[in-house]
Amino acid sequence: HEAILKTVLGDFYSQDKHYGSAYLGDQRFDSDATVDVISPNDGQHLLSISHAKPDVIQQVIASAKAEFYHWRSVPAPQRGELVRLFADKARTAKHQLATIISLEAGKPFQESLGEVQELIDVCDFAVGLSRQLYGLTIATERPNHRMMEQWHPIGPVVIITAFNFPMAVWGWNAAISLICGNPIIWKPSSQTPLCGLACHQLLLSAIKEFGANPELSSIVFGEKPQVEQLVDHKDIALVSATGSCAMGRAVNCRVAARMGRTLLELGGNNAMIVCPSADLELAIRAITFSALGTSGQRCTTLRRLIVHSSLKHQVLTKLEAIYKTVSIGDPFDSSNLMGPLVNQQAIDTMKASINTAISQGGKLITGGQQISNLDNKGKSEHGFYITPAIIDIDPSAEIVQQETFAPLLYVHSYDSLEQALAIQNGVSQGLSSAIFTKDMMEAEIFVSARGSDCGLVNVNIGTSGAEIGGAFGGEKDTGGGRESGSDAWKAYMRRMTNTINYGSELPLAQGISFDM
Ligand code: NAD
Repeated sequence: HEAILKTVLGDFYSQDKHYGSAYLGDQRFDSDATVDVISPNDGQHLLSISHAKPDVIQQVIASAKAEFYHWRSVPAPQRGELVRLFADKARTAKHQLATIISLEAGKPFQESLGEVQELIDVCDFAVGLSRQLYGLTIATERPNHRMMEQWHPIGPVVIITAFNFPMAVWGWNAAISLICGNPIIWKPSSQTPLCGLACHQLLLSAIKEFGANPELSSIVFGEKPQVEQLVDHKDIALVSATGSCAMGRAVNCRVAARMGRTLLELGGNNAMIVCPSADLELAIRAITFSALGTSGQRCTTLRRLIVHSSLKHQVLTKLEAIYKTVSIGDPFDSSNLMGPLVNQQAIDTMKASINTAISQGGKLITGGQQISNLDNKGKSEHGFYITPAIIDIDPSAEIVQQETFAPLLYVHSYDSLEQALAIQNGVSQGLSSAIFTKDMMEAEIFVSARGSDCGLVNVNIGTSGAEIGGAFGGEKDTGGGRESGSDAWKAYMRRMTNTINYGSELPLAQGISFDM
């Protein structure tokens, strides 16, 4: 894979596998302490990065702010042209980019290709959107007046991303931020720094071709201290954070303290209801992809299956057979449907959740065995593979409240739709949900105000695999943010209401008289 890295990373490529701590445009910064990145696929050392120092972060923010004063005045359709140039480059490099995702995140290559396609799709969407960004004209009560709404660029945007969608989530934020007139500063997951550098490099090459300032885009490596410095800064107009609920809560409190703006895309605890009228074959296929895709490491992964009691035995038998035979292994081998988990900690967390579930009355149907051999220090030298697990458990067990970011599926049964909905909505997260039914009334209730309380609500498809045209995000502890399609762009702009008087009188609103 070195040849691919060399091609995509260009000047950023390091033969000695030591990468910088921050890249301000094309300027690289380093710091002393290094952090190793381990491949989930084989447990081997992939590369090292360092964490950005405070003065470098300060410089990155100052440069983004300075560049904002220029970029905000470039007409939006021209800003769209930059995103189009980037999308062209991403199209050409699709296979190389997907390789880097599979290398660092352990995602099966087919799914990595899908992720890069999502990055390209959102860019295409943003290019069209750059000719819209529309406001309203609103009827005014005053004669010879006009009232209208405009949307203006907001300022530098910090984008914090998780390991599991290391390119697409940046793409959702970067493409829309750029057309909206905002410079971007990216803090990628420390597990996927090369995914970050590859996208940053492609964007820089588009920026140069376009003739804009490279400081429009920067990347900062780090963890809590670096994130805190970034999000605390008053010159950061928007913090768009994707990751666990714990991270989002911490970031949200800090940004709220300075009256800043956040866009939060946090953890899910997604459920599917399988009704008596469901097309079972379709449902089983949807369950399989939703629960096992990306080895259970999607924010929309199916975690809770709520099956009508008349079907439970049948569904469990079918799923058990699939779970026992699903092909697990090297994500670059197309015969494998599941790759590794991201690290040993993810495996340990999954095993701990299984034990807790059993102690809370759950019955392990299958799975939960680590596949690789551990050395005598407990480290994996062969990657972080585990068999996917199913647990039959009562929905009142406390463990099901929690998102375990692994292929662990809890199965519950229900007797009435009201009961199923109460189970489905009875968790603190609210990202994705699905129902399988041929009964029109059940489907309509599910998508109605008294149905699912999630941001993504599907009928006869699984919980994962959203398209970029819709607004993506969830309610409650998932953070309430919406990204990608529909009118999610409004979060990246400031709204201005204008009232213009083209008469020679000064009538006051609400008929107030103030004559001197
Ligand atoms: P994570 O929360 O550990 O990390 C996400 C990002 O936040 C990383 O860049 C990380 O370096 C940073 N971070 C982590 N802890 C932090 C802290 N205390 N202070 C400041 N920054 C911190 O998440 P992960 O393990 O990389 O990804 C999995 C999680 O992300 C899951 O909960 C998943 O559901 C969620 N996720 C949500 C969406 C969505 O759109 N809703 C998409 C992808 C992933």
